[in-house]
Amino acid sequence: DEAIRIADLAQQMGIKAQDLIKNLIGMGVMATINQSIDADTAAIIAADFGYDVEKIGFSEKEFLAPVHEDKEEDLRPRPPVVTIMGHVDHGKTSLLDVIRKSHITSGEAGGITQHIGAYHVTTPRGEIVFLDTPGHEAFTAMRARGAQVTDLVILVVAADDGVMDQTREAINHSKAAGVPIVVAVNKIDKEGADPDRVKRELAEHGLVPEEWGGDTIFANVSAKKKIGIDELLELVLLQAEVLELKANPNRRGVGHIVEARLDKGRGAVATVLIQAGTIHKGDAFTCGLHAGKIRAILNDQGKMLKEAGPAMPVEVQGFDGVPDAGDEFVVVADEKVARKISDSRKGKQREKELAKETKFTLDKFLAAK
Ligand code: GDP
Ligand code: MG
Repeated sequence: DEAIRIADLAQQMGIKAQDLIKNLIGMGVMATINQSIDADTAAIIAADFGYDVEKIGFSEKEFLAPVHEDKEEDLRPRPPVVTIMGHVDHGKTSLLDVIRKSHITSGEAGGITQHIGAYHVTTPRGEIVFLDTPGHEAFTAMRARGAQVTDLVILVVAADDGVMDQTREAINHSKAAGVPIVVAVNKIDKEGADPDRVKRELAEHGLVPEEWGGDTIFANVSAKKKIGIDELLELVLLQAEVLELKANPNRRGVGHIVEARLDKGRGAVATVLIQAGTIHKGDAFTCGLHAGKIRAILNDQGKMLKEAGPAMPVEVQGFDGVPDAGDEFVVVADEKVARKISDSRKGKQREKELAKETKFTLDKFLAAK
């Protein structure tokens, strides 16, 4: 499992990589400068050059505290994290817009959601965090990486259009992830709106309304005319209550990347959804292949924060590179540890890529024969 790159081994012994490779060939090992050899081979080679190789195991697990499970008494209620899904043009952006009482739709090029943001909303009944996904890619990408960030899905279905391809897709994604759905039947202000038809179509897909003996919550809304919005939010909070969402705010912060980008002035920045613990300005962290130290925390209003706790979506500055959506964000003891973990991950990644390349070359070689 332990391996060392030939270039690194040669450098550590102060010899030319070519000489090392020559010795390897003598042992019947064919390798190039960027490839890795296992620790045992490295030890034999090093002995040839008069060196002893000391194996120092590195397991990032021991650094990724806390390793313990949270105690029940440390858990506190946290707001639900909600993703709005549905067919294109059924009103996802409009609904989010009216919920935030801002104007996302008008600022979008062509009216299509440009990227994922995450927003924190306070209602008289409680707080809700919304993720604004472009289509369903973000949701799928995160699930593919094992990141479960959404507690609830609001499925938007236009009352004049009914169940469409992306409606079915959204249902399948939510079911596969085990995330409950609240249905928002939108555009009920429109002529030709038929909310009952939407109910019948969704019932056929297993989303049976409560009044028909099922357990799916439906809300009739109009994002345009601002009808039924408060009721929808109340129903979302009601559904969330059943889930008894809790987190321990008093531990090192962990979360997932919702979106990330390279900012001209501020370098790599990312929206992190904190899922447990609290992050603080100055904390060292690892995130996917990257590491860093939190230079600034901003909330969805652009306000600078000193810290952020569970279910809060915040923009974090201080990454040494742009992470991927779905990457896990973990606060660690200090920058040295953060660097160590990211170096170890980068090394493993490089090995994987080289293994792929080698296999590819070998495949070509075999195919040519
Ligand atoms: P998205 O693709 O799901 O994000 O849909 P949008 O929010 O961009 O809405 C698509 C179109 O439907 C826009 O022209 C909206 O103005 C319109 N729309 C959204 N909600 C409603 C509604 O409740 N009633 C009516 N009449 N039109 C709506
Ligand atoms: Mg949209």
